[in-house]
Amino acid sequence: MTGIVVLGSTNMDLVAYVPRAPARGETVTGRAFRTVPGGKGANQAVAAARAGGEVAMIGAVGTDDFGVRLRAVLEHSGVDTDLLRTAEGPSGTAHIVVDDEGGNAIVVVPGANGSVTSLSHGDEALIATAGLLLLQLELPLSAVTEGAAHARAAGVRTVLTPAPARPLPPELLAATDLLVPNEHEAAALTGRTDPHAAARALLDAVPEVVVTLGAAGCLYAARGAAPLAVPAPRVRAVDTTAAGDTFAGVLAVALAEGRPVPEALARAGTAAALSVRREGASTSMPYRAEIEAALA
Ligand code: ADP
Repeated sequence: MTGIVVLGSTNMDLVAYVPRAPARGETVTGRAFRTVPGGKGANQAVAAARAGGEVAMIGAVGTDDFGVRLRAVLEHSGVDTDLLRTAEGPSGTAHIVVDDEGGNAIVVVPGANGSVTSLSHGDEALIATAGLLLLQLELPLSAVTEGAAHARAAGVRTVLTPAPARPLPPELLAATDLLVPNEHEAAALTGRTDPHAAARALLDAVPEVVVTLGAAGCLYAARGAAPLAVPAPRVRAVDTTAAGDTFAGVLAVALAEGRPVPEALARAGTAAALSVRREGASTSMPYRAEIEAALA
């Protein structure tokens, strides 16, 4: 099987653009407001589908209007949402204030995502037939761990983006084949700020690691092999939102297609670089033809 299952979050990002963030008790007038469909799970699912993957998403949206829109965005991208639940109550939301210096402050309310505490028989059956399971940490850890363990038992490769950074249960690490942190997450997990040292430390827990390094590309490490540094294509970055999710989604497709890791990393890095050249999160993600044209 080459199908990709994403077990992850859906969020509506509510973004207010302000001259400066308000202090406690203060009101400031914003310049603009946007609602942007997101959530790390949904972003990775869209990136993988656009890159040509056959993708199904397990998670939940709420019974509010945001839920309708979040589901529609996935379906429009060709993601199978048969197992995406609709949970009574609000969808997940991220309340984001972006100031004139590009700094931001964010409150995430999990909403429906928080209802996904365990997997159904249908979820388990789907995971067992997948080519690869893609995970992040925006759903309850109990479900993420259960999903990874189930994939491992079925011989399905697991790829985990450990974001937002938090301590990982040993059972989750034990069921992870490839861990894909950015350099901040790698440092948070290991206490080492040097990516090489962090990657080496993470190999004690998982067999393969990719530390993403923004404009510097990524570092791949596997047990018993020399580390591999893959530079990123040089581009003028306009908006790096969801660069990591684009990278993970496209990496998953390439690995599920059976491509060797160096080739899969080149495809992921090329796709992520294309996405940072454009505004937006999922709307900035490239399609397969564009990725292949950039690689040629
Ligand atoms: P995250 O978005 O999770 O913080 P990174 O910033 O490390 O993760 O970005 C993920 C990947 O996206 C990088 O490994 C790189 O391939 C690509 N990328 C990010 N920023 C740039 C950039 N300015 N130029 C080219 N590629 C980039």
